Amino acid sequence: QILGTSSSSSDAFISVARAFSSSTTPIKATLFPGDGIGPEIAESVKQVFTAADVAIEWDEHYVSTEVDPRTNSFLTWESLQSVLDNKVGLKGPMATPIGKGHRSLNLTLRKELNLYANVRPCYSLPGYKTRYDDVDLITIRENTEGEYSGLEHQVVKGVVESIKIITRKASMRVAEYAFLYAKTHGRKKVSAIHKANIMQKTDGLFLQCCDEVAKKYPEIYYEKVVIDNCCMMLVKNPALFDVLVMPNLYGDIISDLCAGLVGGLGLTPSCNIGEDGIALAEAVHGSAPDIAGKNLANPTALLLSGVMMLRHLKLNKQAEQIHSAIINTIAEGKYRTADLGGSSTTTDFTKAICDHL
Ligand code: NAD
Repeated sequence: QILGTSSSSSDAFISVARAFSSSTTPIKATLFPGDGIGPEIAESVKQVFTAADVAIEWDEHYVSTEVDPRTNSFLTWESLQSVLDNKVGLKGPMATPIGKGHRSLNLTLRKELNLYANVRPCYSLPGYKTRYDDVDLITIRENTEGEYSGLEHQVVKGVVESIKIITRKASMRVAEYAFLYAKTHGRKKVSAIHKANIMQKTDGLFLQCCDEVAKKYPEIYYEKVVIDNCCMMLVKNPALFDVLVMPNLYGDIISDLCAGLVGGLGLTPSCNIGEDGIALAEAVHGSAPDIAGKNLANPTALLLSGVMMLRHLKLNKQAEQIHSAIINTIAEGKYRTADLGGSSTTTDFTKAICDHL
């Protein structure tokens, strides 16, 4: 599960990262501990990275208590600037208050940093039994538009309108990323997920772009699947899919479904890919307010997101070391958090991973 990168600016950045990694100078990475369980699982990542001797210097930024007028959100301009400067970061979950009138923190990050693709690998963990033991899926979610464009208003009393935006530019960009990802990672098939039978203009344009890009990759099998049928097929037989590319809202939903196939939201990582070689990794899950502050959260998803970040930086040795320690700890079964049927606290589970390094 290696995170690919596409742009030449990204390659240039990786060369710099390599040069850094071969010296003792740490690479600076932005860390947003986030809300809810975020600070607990971010602490877990910091401890595991320290134990594995990863040469990362965290540049920590917290969600502000006041709206920054420059971003119209609780994220400060300085925190966005930190990601732009470092070009790499790890983000804990951020809560989105419903109906409060300010921009969602996640939307702010995605739009301001132009994080156009969200890569969500989802695979069966050896040693952790679920209904399937062969899940190996990559969901690639368009990350900047669709129903998440933030264009909502009241038309008249009792009638509200939410506008779905699909552009050729964003659709081409994410389709290009998905096919290039498939090619560079030895994947055989790309499925474009849509509802173009109803959303004829918007999903129709998204599909046209995928069709166009697919022609450049004759070696990769390409298919189009209607989203409702895709959900049914995923639940019946996830092995039917390989790389899935889709508009924003569908990606949000399908990736939670995929998480359910392998053991839940505590396990699935992701990485947001931006232009200019930016990579901001984050867990698929949210701030889990129901278990926040109770030392119950599973840090695996954020840890595996950290592993994706390390692979992006080509720090492959440490990435594999941490990945194996997580897998082996879960497979051993002695220390598991409650979401995986165990009774370990976040701190006990983290310590067990450090002991497996
Ligand atoms: P959620 O993902 O926070 O939680 C859903 C369920 O999964 C809960 O029962 C929770 O306890 C469990 N869960 C999630 N992560 C877990 C972990 N690491 N270990 C153990 N159990 C875990 O979804 P929600 O409750 O719908 O959302 C809560 C808040 O998070 C909302 O404000 C939402 O907007 C926000 N959110 C943020 C992000 C993000 O920052 N990228 C993503 C999704 C939701």
